[in-house]
Amino acid sequence: MFTPLKGVGYCLTLDCVNYCKGSFLLGVDKFFCPVCNTLGEVNLERREVQGEGFISMVRVEFDYCPFRKEYRGLAVISMNIPGATFTLYSPIVKTDKRAKIIAESILSIINYDNTLIDRTGFGAQPIISFDEPREMFQKRLEEVSERWKTVEKAIYHE
Ligand SMILES: [Zn+2]
Repeated sequence: MFTPLKGVGYCLTLDCVNYCKGSFLLGVDKFFCPVCNTLGEVNLERREVQGEGFISMVRVEFDYCPFRKEYRGLAVISMNIPGATFTLYSPIVKTDKRAKIIAESILSIINYDNTLIDRTGFGAQPIISFDEPREMFQKRLEEVSERWKTVEKAIYHE
């Protein structure tokens, strides 16, 4: 699945009425202020994975401050089991409430929809091919089975 670039553009001209007010950007990585027509700064939404395999924690950094060039808010949702951590850095998300909803939504689907993850070659969901040799096919089935046990433990707290 193709994910278009999403982000926020900020005018950095001090005497402009649009100074540091964010403008939503979709599919572009340059921003010209519509008021003073100068090239502004763009902060694109980005994703990062730390660790390997099953993702058990999702972090959403939100409420970006263009003055200090840092995120002021953080929402964390965790399954309380060992695993990898997925972080979304989003200048679009402004509130704590919205960040928590997004973190919960990501955690509920990320291990089954690896299009959310940009890192090439990373996929928590193993691909099973019927064309593989029997031993490899059997190994893949066992991997899937193990992953489902981990998910069940997380859901039912066994
Ligand atoms: Zn401007």
